[in-house]
Amino acid sequence: MSNRILMQGNDAIARGLVEAGCAVAASYPGTPASEILSSIDRWRKKCGATMHVEWAVNEKVALEIAYTAAITGLRAAVSMKQVGLNVASDPLLSAAYLGVTGGFLVVSADDPGPHSSQTEQDSRLLAMMAKVPVLDPASPAQAMALAGTGFELSEAFGVPVMLRPTTRVCHASQDVDAPPFLPPVREARFVKDPARWAATPVHRRLLHDRLAEKIAAIASWPATAPIRVNPEVSPTKAVVASGVAFAHARELFGELGISGRIALFQVIQPYPLHAAFIDHLLETYAEILVLEESAPVIEMQVADRRRVHGRMTGAVPGTGELLPEIIERLLSRFAGLPVPGGALPAQGGGRRPTLCPGCAHRSSFYAIRMAAPAGIYPSDIGCYTLGINLDAVDTVLCMGAAVSQAAGFDYAYRLSGKQVDIIATIGDSTFYHAGIPPLIDAVVQGARFVLVILDNGTTAMTGNQPTAGTGIGAGGETTAAVDMEGLVRACGVRFCRTANPDRLPEFIALLKEALVHARERGVAVVVARQPCAMVALADGGKKPGSIVITGECTGCRHCVDQFECPALVFDEAANRVRIDEMICTGCGVCVHVCPEGAIGPESAGEDS
Ligand code: SF4
Ligand code: SF4
Repeated sequence: MSNRILMQGNDAIARGLVEAGCAVAASYPGTPASEILSSIDRWRKKCGATMHVEWAVNEKVALEIAYTAAITGLRAAVSMKQVGLNVASDPLLSAAYLGVTGGFLVVSADDPGPHSSQTEQDSRLLAMMAKVPVLDPASPAQAMALAGTGFELSEAFGVPVMLRPTTRVCHASQDVDAPPFLPPVREARFVKDPARWAATPVHRRLLHDRLAEKIAAIASWPATAPIRVNPEVSPTKAVVASGVAFAHARELFGELGISGRIALFQVIQPYPLHAAFIDHLLETYAEILVLEESAPVIEMQVADRRRVHGRMTGAVPGTGELLPEIIERLLSRFAGLPVPGGALPAQGGGRRPTLCPGCAHRSSFYAIRMAAPAGIYPSDIGCYTLGINLDAVDTVLCMGAAVSQAAGFDYAYRLSGKQVDIIATIGDSTFYHAGIPPLIDAVVQGARFVLVILDNGTTAMTGNQPTAGTGIGAGGETTAAVDMEGLVRACGVRFCRTANPDRLPEFIALLKEALVHARERGVAVVVARQPCAMVALADGGKKPGSIVITGECTGCRHCVDQFECPALVFDEAANRVRIDEMICTGCGVCVHVCPEGAIGPESAGEDS
């Protein structure tokens, strides 16, 4: 019986994984992949499957956990965003050599654009480097189906397989036909074989040969062969597309009326591209246009620059998302039709993002500016990156780099006999993810800086997933919780203090004390602990009281420009600030920000 359900792409991937008997799933949150694991947990509960589902401390750990299940004969999956794959690349490359005995799917969600990432890198390139086959879905329904196909491919050849959705697949919604669940019936069985599972370099060479043979065989596996969409035409031109670019191209073929003139192929498995398909393309068509995001993975495998047009040849823009308007122009030009004019929709831009009203990160950043006005402020990946608006974030490189960059600045300035105040910021989840090794390194090297761990008790930016410090598992169950301060001290840090940043005057004083310690005795850590304002709101937290602007307001704009709480609104006509009661959380931190003392609790005077 048909069971059609409206699903978001990430939900569909999760359903496909559970449906196909995935027994172990691990992830670290990152947009656009974050919802996959929470959906897996929901589907496994719905179907009563016995699974291990976890938010791992980072993507490398997540991949290693899932991979290990797949060498006991189980089906296992790991999900992450594309930059998370960089973190997990070390075990991925090795896992490709060693292979699996069960099914192993690496879901790496790419972000062409990019909409919410540091880079718009193409996970398929990393898969090519690792010699891992990749499946490239064009829709939520296809992503769900390819989750099962991926497990079959993985088991047929004993290799990890990558499923590579992009943001538009992950976040699109589609009416999906959902088959019944097949409960996993396998039991873990690890067959010892040190020559394989703990292979030395001599054996690795042989394993590499075997992997190359597998990849050659996968390039003719029928289940993932390219699909010709309009088989009745016999043209001289072909469009080869994958992922969302294919979905746009298929619609535009109908709208432009070119289905009878140009062949359209969907590539499901961009790497390894089917060998017979490459031969067919080069033997049949005089001109071939390749549409893919974001790197020329298909194009470089076809590689005949006289006839193949794509990102490598400049026929297709070399960077950015392939929006329908862009593909329409590319197809029109390729088909010899008039090319639409006018401006293309801008990629990126939009409203300037800002920290939420009542967010304690704002207090931390304001305090950092007050404590070290001439300081350098390295920061990290998370919602607190928005501290850039408050001039309290100078650098953002990658997960955990705030700590190593803080040390790097100190060493660089020290060479010329200078000392500069350095206050780095990192979120609690990011600290557990990648902040601990650089902190150990900083202690060992005698670096002089203050690290503020912004501990809001959640992974806020990606949807409030638990951290290693919250004591909550992926399914809401109670787990052990890491003692953050104990961990910091165990790294060798001698100054480790915890405070609520919303108590602004005390917090500024603590930062100044930490700076003195850092200058004289090395790295100091301040844990800025206050729950995420949005979580507190969702939990039904009561507003502590109303805050008002009194008649003392001079309209100096200090609170608006330097503190930037969205609930503080400057009224140009009245030349003064008012409070937006709809969004004000009543945290009262702004009371300490106004130099005129014009902000106070309701009892203080004039209501705004
Ligand atoms: S409330 Fe205070 S800081 Fe804000 S504009 Fe008025 S006087 Fe300036
Ligand atoms: S009390 Fe002040 S800082 Fe807190 S949310 Fe309201 S306006 Fe913003």
